[in-house]
Amino acid sequence: MLFDDQLRAMLGRARRIAIIGAKDNLGSPVDHVGRYLLNAGFEVMPVHPVRRQTWGLANAHSILELAELGFEPDIVCLFRAPQYCADHAREVLQLPKLPQIFWMQEGIRNAEAGQLMFEAGVKVVEDRCIETVHKALFNDRTATFTCLRCGKCCEGRGGIVVGPRDLPRLCAHFGLAAEEVLERYTETMGGKPTLKAGDDGFCMFFKEGKGCSIHPARPSVCRAWPFFRGNLIDRVSFEMAREDCPGISREASHAEFAHEGFRYLEDYKLRCRDIRTEGRAVIVDESELPPLD
Ligand code: SF4
Ligand code: SF4
Repeated sequence: MLFDDQLRAMLGRARRIAIIGAKDNLGSPVDHVGRYLLNAGFEVMPVHPVRRQTWGLANAHSILELAELGFEPDIVCLFRAPQYCADHAREVLQLPKLPQIFWMQEGIRNAEAGQLMFEAGVKVVEDRCIETVHKALFNDRTATFTCLRCGKCCEGRGGIVVGPRDLPRLCAHFGLAAEEVLERYTETMGGKPTLKAGDDGFCMFFKEGKGCSIHPARPSVCRAWPFFRGNLIDRVSFEMAREDCPGISREASHAEFAHEGFRYLEDYKLRCRDIRTEGRAVIVDESELPPLD
């Protein structure tokens, strides 16, 4: 059995999840969980033997096909009846790189599958919902910041980069192909697609009195604010951000904010490395943070 602190560390490190038995039938548990994981920032690969795509993403047709597609899952998450899990475990053992966790969803247990994975050094979770566990372990509030949904940070043009990890989420949200999402909702700024703004100067998805109309699918830059690079590494930027954003704690020191923010970016997989495709705001290294007092 994995304890919560082990699960937290493993889920925090995990980036890629293969969902076995993926379907996007609205209202089904797998649809709910798949969308949640996408919105939580994971790179998701739906796996289903006959479907061609799920949540706007191309499917793999089997676990073995993951290797051909170059997808190395950190977690293999099963939405399959218990009697099929041992066969899936044997398929997982044929992957060139084993996942860290073999996760059987709520209501699913299979001792043989568990034993096979255990002997191969893969951690096993049985009969637990990955969405419920993730929600319990990762809470989008922090001690130094709680969003008050005032919308001030949604004003401006050209700052909300739609990176490669954001696009699948927006496609799944709108049920549109990538080209159509880019065409309808973005304009190019600095060589990168950014969300369009309305005549009022606010992001086109901001609705007065309601806030963000695409909140579950919003881009990584929106998720990361106010833990932007500048605010983490520079105290003056932090003080200016605090004047603008009423959600930042008035009591927190810059160092507390910076280290908590960095952890937040890590936990929610928001920190990026590729300046060519991602917003500079989410590219930061731990060595750049101020020392903790
Ligand atoms: S300005 Fe701050 S409090 Fe207001 S919506 Fe943005 S993050 Fe939330
Ligand atoms: S996508 Fe949502 S959170 Fe991001 S700027 Fe637009 S309205 Fe604000």
